Amino acid sequence: MTKERMFNFSAGPSMLPLEVLEQAGGEITNYRGSGMSVMEMSHRSKVFQKIFDDTKAKFKKLLSVPEDYEVLFLQGGASTQFSAIPLNLIGRTGKADYALTGNFSTLAWKEAKKYGDVAVACSSEAENHTYIPSQAELTVRPDASYFYYCANNTIYGTEWQYVPETGAVPLVCDMSSNICSRPVDVSRYGVIYAGAQKNLAPAGLTIVIVKKALAGHALPYTPLMLDWQTEIDKDSMYNTPPCWCIYMLGLVCDWLEAQGGVAGMEQKKKVKAGMLYDTIDQSKLFRCAAKPGSRSDMNVTFRTESPELDAQFVAESAEQGLLNLKGHRKVGGMRASIYNAMPLEGVELLCDFIRRFDRSH
Ligand SMILES: *Cc1c(COP(=O)(O)O)cnc(C)c1O
Repeated sequence: MTKERMFNFSAGPSMLPLEVLEQAGGEITNYRGSGMSVMEMSHRSKVFQKIFDDTKAKFKKLLSVPEDYEVLFLQGGASTQFSAIPLNLIGRTGKADYALTGNFSTLAWKEAKKYGDVAVACSSEAENHTYIPSQAELTVRPDASYFYYCANNTIYGTEWQYVPETGAVPLVCDMSSNICSRPVDVSRYGVIYAGAQKNLAPAGLTIVIVKKALAGHALPYTPLMLDWQTEIDKDSMYNTPPCWCIYMLGLVCDWLEAQGGVAGMEQKKKVKAGMLYDTIDQSKLFRCAAKPGSRSDMNVTFRTESPELDAQFVAESAEQGLLNLKGHRKVGGMRASIYNAMPLEGVELLCDFIRRFDRSH
């Protein structure tokens, strides 16, 4: 009945570090002598308050979040922030600019258009989002309230290799699928946000890092729960926060710290992604969907020339314990999501399988 743990290449929710799952399992019925599970605790209890404070402190340390920023632990997923961002920020000038490099930035742009004069700063749609436009291709309006982009395009497998230069216009960035995979200079951003379920914790937690000076200017009809100032004032506890996910994030932060922090993760992800891209490039059968220079280190999209062979690859890889390699329907082919918690061994086995499949077809 019990199956071995497998290598899960799902885009999200995705693998969590085994050590973290084991620790959580060990204290699931009685958290450190409290007599109850973290899932059963009042969010107003002393025990939980300490979990919350410690997690926030560890997360801020990992990303070196400056003092004039607040870290919020919210619910609603990254998608709820598609609405919260314009509601909180667009009021300053009524304008915002969006870089459209994939599915999620396009969804965020569509939502923002309800609230003001929202322009397209660049779009890679004509080439099916296979590349990230260069700085020279961005149209930045100096009177925009903010400039929005998505740092890693989970579905298309592209990743910004630079931080857009926007002068005095605050940068807002969706880092759902690459947060904590590399160091970031938070001070260059107005807002960074991420759904936690790709690289950090179970689904149900959304992290928003907001420069405090930008909050407090929400549009008058902004729902109370979407106004970042509400959550800043109540330290993310206006209502019940996602307690269990926050606890899990704390464990993942400890794990990340033990891996050498985000700088350590950057080294590891470069090795994993480099190995996988080299294997695909050196094969006869496979090619990458994303263009060189724009390739994501988190989501590797690739395919053969034939949808039938792709389907065969996905089916046979699953038999080898390499799961969820089917690409998103918008791109087709395969996608290997190799987030922080994907062990090197999983990528090595995938590369071996790609080489064997290449030789035999
Ligand atoms: C998964 C994902 C989202 C959507 O996240 P939800 O938490 O499901 O709303 C948004 N942006 C990016 C980059 C993603 O990868």
